[in-house]
Amino acid sequence: ETFTETDKEQILRDNLDHTLFSWSKQAGLNPISAERAEGVYLWDRDGKRYIDFSSQLMNVNIGHGNQKVTEAVAAQMRELSYVYPGMITKARGDLGKRLAEITAPNLTKAFFTLGGAEAIENAIKLARIYTGRHKIVSLYQSFHGASYGAISVGGDPRKFAVDSQAMPGTVHVENPYFYRCPWYSSTPEECAERAAAAMERIIGYENPGSVAAIVLEGESGTSGCIKYPPGYWQRVREICDKHGILLIADEVMSGFGRTGKWFGSDHHGVKVDLMCMAKGITAGYLPLGAVMVDDAIAHYFDERPLPLGLTYSAHPVSCAAAAAVLDIYEEENMLQNVQELGHYLDARVCDLMGQHPSIGDWRNTGLFGCLELVKNRDTKEPMAPWNATAEQMAVMNQVAAKIRELGMYTFVRWNLIFIAPPLNITKDELDQGLDIISQALRIADQHVN
Ligand code: PLP
Repeated sequence: ETFTETDKEQILRDNLDHTLFSWSKQAGLNPISAERAEGVYLWDRDGKRYIDFSSQLMNVNIGHGNQKVTEAVAAQMRELSYVYPGMITKARGDLGKRLAEITAPNLTKAFFTLGGAEAIENAIKLARIYTGRHKIVSLYQSFHGASYGAISVGGDPRKFAVDSQAMPGTVHVENPYFYRCPWYSSTPEECAERAAAAMERIIGYENPGSVAAIVLEGESGTSGCIKYPPGYWQRVREICDKHGILLIADEVMSGFGRTGKWFGSDHHGVKVDLMCMAKGITAGYLPLGAVMVDDAIAHYFDERPLPLGLTYSAHPVSCAAAAAVLDIYEEENMLQNVQELGHYLDARVCDLMGQHPSIGDWRNTGLFGCLELVKNRDTKEPMAPWNATAEQMAVMNQVAAKIRELGMYTFVRWNLIFIAPPLNITKDELDQGLDIISQALRIADQHVN
């Protein structure tokens, strides 16, 4: 469809006048007006092309416009668009079985939701009911979704707006963030040990018998890809086992190949009791989330009613989309591609660090990467601090504007630039994107002191 300038203006006005945009002041917004997208690219209504370097919200893992998904969705809709979640459908059973196959053997059953926050809400409910305890321990530098329970469990400042009404029973501890380790530590392993010891102390003060679960992102996402050093997950599992606490992995962003394995927590070889997923499960083509449940928890509800439910749980069309997306991950060998390109990306960014003094730290696992910009490498003063004000964002906003001007969409937050493109990106496309980031970093370099 072609649009006149008047049509385009109308589309813009309808959006801005009659819809609310997430996490932003509504005045002065200038969002991209998206028209179409294919592969790693998207085009706006003026025909400008953007390379998508964060897979939108780290979810469009198979790239845009894959017609195999469209066909699977259309076929499912022609046959059966919807039945209530109390009925059997082929799409639901197929997907449950496949999720059980790609997760660890102890995770046997899925409860389907519409997205990540709902997966977390339901995992919290399950953990509380199963243990008979109420507290949930999580990390300050984490995000688990925007609904009341999920945002309370996250430590991200996005929760400040609802702090006074937050879900009771949340306990936060500091991350094993080696680049800025809150404890003296000379190695990542030492930082991990100190962080785990602090977590255990705090659980002691909180009464271990009141703690239902510890929640960790499978690999840290929007807080800045704060990698878990070796040993951390193992220590957290030990704490759980010692005190009868469940371990919940939030794989909403880190799942489905993003890190080169199916799930971020797969890198640590540790058993989890509940696993939350969303985003990459359908690669954003339709809304879907899931909580995968340990066999013992699943059996707990053999003789007790499961107190969970959603009108759209196990929506057949979303389940069919997910099955098609899982096929595509496998057919296109995406896990392998992510592992290879993850190393390539790491090497390329390490080169860029030689040219750009504003890059303080760079962290990636596979195609889940983050540049952390600083004003000074020795003091590590961030280019913009955690929860930066508009004023403190002045330089980063210029960097972000340059990135957009040069034809890239990616997630820029505080002093962080995310590099998390679709998992089937090619080396050439990755290079194109890195060239844009490199040009934009020149602005940040001028503010290094
Ligand atoms: N958990 C993590 C780790 C996330 O990154 C997000 C979203 O960014 C969520 C949960 C929430 O998912 P949703 O936005 O689908 O509710």
